Amino acid sequence: MAAQIIDGKAMAARIRARIKEEVAALKQAGGVVPGLAVVLVGDDAASQIYVRSKERACKAAGLHSEVYRLPESTGQAQLLQLIQRLNDAPQIHGILVQSPPPAHIDEDAVIRTISPDKDVDGFHVVNVGRLCAGQPALVSCTPRGIMALIRSTGRDITGKVAVVVGRSNIVGKPVAQLLLQANATVIVCHSRTANLAEMTRQADILVAAVGKKGLISADMVKPGAVVIDVGMNRTQDGLFGDVDYEGVSQVAGFITPVPGGVGPMTIAMLLDNTLQAAKAHG
Ligand code: NDP
Repeated sequence: MAAQIIDGKAMAARIRARIKEEVAALKQAGGVVPGLAVVLVGDDAASQIYVRSKERACKAAGLHSEVYRLPESTGQAQLLQLIQRLNDAPQIHGILVQSPPPAHIDEDAVIRTISPDKDVDGFHVVNVGRLCAGQPALVSCTPRGIMALIRSTGRDITGKVAVVVGRSNIVGKPVAQLLLQANATVIVCHSRTANLAEMTRQADILVAAVGKKGLISADMVKPGAVVIDVGMNRTQDGLFGDVDYEGVSQVAGFITPVPGGVGPMTIAMLLDNTLQAAKAHG
């Protein structure tokens, strides 16, 4: 039987509508207007598209939005000064510096400079530490979106085997932490994993966050599993995930499409993190 499709686009639209209502209610009550500042250094084409869609999403949800488009030549000190200014700006509750910055910028220093209370990407070590310690934290947007997609299947996560393929700081590691918090037994795989298929075949929940088109084939998936495809691999023929969708959808119980799965959830969670930050510190 073919897998049920987890519609991330529809779910993200519902979340964005809920955020819009909350933002309007806050405004009406004379409260704070959540504000997001996005900083883009250089003119990377993909980054420009991401930044535009974040700006549009903010405006559509009624959030205050500021976008700083800085030239490629912007120096490290200049960028850190802008972040400090945004840390102190009362109308801004979330700060995001679009990744990847140009090579001469030290991205770790940039993340360290963002106030943890405004770190809506959830990349600051304070938020990473809070997440690992099970304390309230701003959690990275894509992993939050992945968890919402898994929960939308109605499957109980407790006691299930979850396999995460990929161990990056922005997806693999935080989603593994969230799955652990949700009482899954978590296996994290990476490029040095000895027998990937042997691991993935154990997964009741399989999250693929690698960046290799079609890495996960049908024979690597347990029948009935929940499969979340985070991969975004652009080719001449379009956008593809890390999962061989045609084959795996014949084996899995649930599957996210690419596009229309994880991607739209990331922006919805960015808006939600900004709203949460405004409510907590506005
Ligand atoms: P990274 O390149 O930072 O990490 C990739 C991970 O995959 C690494 O941990 C790497 O292992 C592992 N890996 C590489 N090759 C293999 C292999 N053959 N078998 C098993 N593991 C392997 O990528 P990101 O985490 O940033 O992103 C992953 C994918 O998700 C990309 O396609 C990206 O575009 C997409 N993405 C999508 C988002 C969305 O909103 N939909 C948001 C963020 C990312 P090692 O650590 O050993 O090198």
